[in-house]
Amino acid sequence: MSHIDLDIRFVLMRPSHPGNIGAAARAMRTMGLSRLHLIQPKRFPDAQATAMAAGADDVLAGAVLHPDLGDALAPCTLALGLSARRRGITLEELNPRQAAQRMIDECARAGRVAVLFGNERTGLENDELARCHAMVRIPSVDSFSSLNLAQAVQVMAYELRMAGDLSVEPVPCRQPVASLEQLEVFFEHLWRTLEVINFHKGRAPQVIERRLRKLFLRAAPDWQELQILHGLLAASERVAARTAMVSEQDVHSAEEGVAATGEHSNGQE
Ligand code: SAH
Repeated sequence: MSHIDLDIRFVLMRPSHPGNIGAAARAMRTMGLSRLHLIQPKRFPDAQATAMAAGADDVLAGAVLHPDLGDALAPCTLALGLSARRRGITLEELNPRQAAQRMIDECARAGRVAVLFGNERTGLENDELARCHAMVRIPSVDSFSSLNLAQAVQVMAYELRMAGDLSVEPVPCRQPVASLEQLEVFFEHLWRTLEVINFHKGRAPQVIERRLRKLFLRAAPDWQELQILHGLLAASERVAARTAMVSEQDVHSAEEGVAATGEHSNGQE
C-alpha cells in the first residue's frame, strides 16, 4: 500500500471525548493512514487526546478542523458513513471489507474519499447519512451492536490496509466524478428549479429531495455531466419565467380588455 498515497480522510463528527480522538489517531497511524478531520470536537487539542494517541502525534498535529459536514466533504468524490444501526433511510449498506475495496478503487481513479464516523452517544443523524453514497455497518450482535468510536476507526483502517495491500497500481479512467461540493451546488440549483416550476404543488419537498439526492449520489456524475444538468435546469427556469410572463400578460390584457370594454361602453353612452 505504501506506493499509493491514499487520499482517504477519516472524519469524526462532533466527537465528545478527546481520548477517542487520540485513540482514533493511533488506530489510523498503525495502518499507515494519517488524514484525520474533525467537525466541532468538544475538546481539541487536549492532553487526553495526546495521551491516547500514544505517539501518533503527527496525525493529531495534522488534524484538520471543520465548521460543518459540508466543509469536510467538499472536495471528496466518495463519502461513506459508518453506523451501527440501520436508520429510517434507505441507503446501500456495505460491510467494512466491501467499503474498503470501494474506497481503494476510488483512490485508484484519482478520487478523494471521506469516511465518516458519528458522535459517541448519538451516532450519525439521518441528514448526515443522506450525504453519503453508502453506509457501512460493522457486523455485530443486534442486542449490543455499537463499538467504541476509536475501535470502529480501527476496524475500518485495518480493512483499508488489507484491501490496499492487495490492490493494483492506479489505473487511469474516465473523468473524475464531481466533488461533493460541486454536487451540493447542483442540488441547490435543482431545488430552486423545482420551486420555480412548482413541482411540489404545496407538498413538503424533503422526501423528494432526499430521493433525488440518493439518485445523483448513486449515478456519480462527472463535472461535464453536471454542466449539462445545470444547462437543463437553467433552460427549464427560462421557460418557466416566460410562461409566467405570458400568463401575466394574459391577465393584463384580460384586465385591459375589461377596461377597454368599459371605456367603450362608456363612450357609447
Ligand atoms: N449510540 C450510537 C453509537 C455511536 S458509536 C448509535 O447507536 O448510533 C460512535 C460511532 O462509531 C458511530 O457513529 C459509528 O460511526 C461507529 N460505529 C460504532 N459501532 C459501529 C458498527 N457496529 N458499525 C458501524 N459503525 C459503528
